[in-house]
Formats: sequence, C-alpha cells, structure tokens
Amino acid sequence: MTRAPRFPLALDRVHGRSRAAGSELLRPQAPLQHAAQDAAQQATGRRASSGLGLDSAAVRERMVQRLRAEGLRCEPVLRALGQVERHRFVDSALATQAYEDTSLPIGLQQTISKPSVVGRMLALLFEGEQARAHGHLGRVLEVGTGCGYQAALLGLLARSVVSVERLKGLHEKARENLAGLRSGDLRLVYGDGRDGHAPRAPYTSIVAAAGGEAVPQAWLDQLAPGGRLVAPMHDAARGGQVLLVIDRHEQGLVRQWHDAVHFVPLKSGAA
Ligand code: SAH
Repeated sequence: MTRAPRFPLALDRVHGRSRAAGSELLRPQAPLQHAAQDAAQQATGRRASSGLGLDSAAVRERMVQRLRAEGLRCEPVLRALGQVERHRFVDSALATQAYEDTSLPIGLQQTISKPSVVGRMLALLFEGEQARAHGHLGRVLEVGTGCGYQAALLGLLARSVVSVERLKGLHEKARENLAGLRSGDLRLVYGDGRDGHAPRAPYTSIVAAAGGEAVPQAWLDQLAPGGRLVAPMHDAARGGQVLLVIDRHEQGLVRQWHDAVHFVPLKSGAA
C-alpha cells in the first residue's frame, strides 16, 4: 500500500517530482499538440474519446479472427464484420467494448446484438437458395433498424436494403450513424415492421432483430421464391426464443429451428 504523502515532503521526493515536472516543462507545447491531434481526429469524424480511432481496423480484425475460430465460416460476412466500424454505432462511453462479443445498450431500452449473433444470422441468410445462387443477399428487408449497425453490414452484402424501425428516436439515430457511409441502396423506414414494407416486396432475404410469438403473415407474403427469412421467435417446445429459418421453395414454406437466442421483443405499432 502506498502511504499518503506527508507534508512537508522529504527533500528526495521533492527532487523526484520536480524532475518529472521539469521534463514536461521542457515540452510546453505537448498538451497543445495533443489537443490539436484530438481536434483533427474529431474533425475527420473519429471519436478521439474512444481511443479507437486509427487502431480500430486491427481490433476489428481480432474480432473477426475470434468469430472465425468459433466457427463462423461465411467469408462475405466475415469481410463485412471487418469493415463496419461498430464503435461508431454505440455511445462513445461504450466504444471500447464495441469489439467484444457482447450486446450493448443503444438507448430507449434497446440493444445492439452481439457480433457473433449478427454474424450467425447473416450467415444463415447466405445459405438461402437465391443467396447461394447469386453470392449476395439480393433484396433485403430488415425489421428493427436499432442503431443501424446490422443495416450497414447488410448494405455491403445485398443489392438493396429496406430497414424498418418503430421507434422514431432510433430511426433518426440510425440515419445519423449511417450518413456518409458507403452503404449502397439502403432505405430507412419509420413504422411497424410487422407489416413488412410492401412497396419494395418481394424480398430475397428477410431478417428480424426483435423476437416475436409468431411470424407476421406480411413477412411470408413478401418473401420471394427461393428467398429466406431468419427471425428470433418464441418456441413453445423449447420454452424460449430460437432462431427460426423459413425458406420459400416451389413446394411451399419450409421451417427449421436453430440456436437459442435472446432478443428484445417485437412490438406492435410505431412510437
Ligand atoms: N439490428 C439492430 C438491433 C436493434 S434491436 C442494430 O444493429 O442495432 C431491435 C430493434 O427492433 C429495436 O430498435 C426495436 O425498437 C425494434 N423493433 C421492435 N419491434 C419492432 C417492429 N414491430 N417494427 C420495427 N422495429 C421494431
């Protein structure tokens, strides 16, 4: 344990302190340089306070390697996870946790999902018949834009994306977060995503980021032939939420139940 300094200080300690202070005094411009660097980083849109600015590509690459080691094998998804700066989508106070495999609060009692779960859902979408045939996710409907992180990933993996959010505050936050990103044909819609988005239907890929009790009929109606839907849904048999995959084949709809998950609830109406 270090003892609290007693005053007056012994001469040797004064000497030690004054030497340290002296070395700072030799570079009086240092704090000004740091401030200028911070200002420059902020001006270029980097969050200086996160301490992640220039190094974030390396941190993201480590996250991608971890996900690969844990079994995520879908190369386009891994590439997209390596590109999108997740720390830009969360509050700056949480930015240092952005590349851990954890869900994080995004305000209004909602959360951004863990990277491993996002990766798993996108990889499942890639296994749909149309997506496999074309090597991309085609026309995508996302229900639950949240902070826009998954929408940014989808923008890199699809031809076009419509993302619907029922909370105005998050819809606007996502718009800000996505402004200036090169994310292709990405349309953010404010409304109840349980209705899907008929004007741009049918969709090759439908993904929900909120868990419901039953798949809304509109999603099934708006799923293209050869298309795939991935959504967290309550499974009575397992007594919890599970990732549900639905494929529209020529013969009809085929359902499969996958991993147990924990998503925020799919709610009705816009607020
Ligand atoms: N993909 C998001 C995760 C958002 S969390 C991201 O990357 O940040 C789930 C989101 O679904 C929440 O923002 C919640 O408000 C939204 N949501 C819940 N029910 C909804 C509904 N019926 N229509 C649209 N969005 C809904």
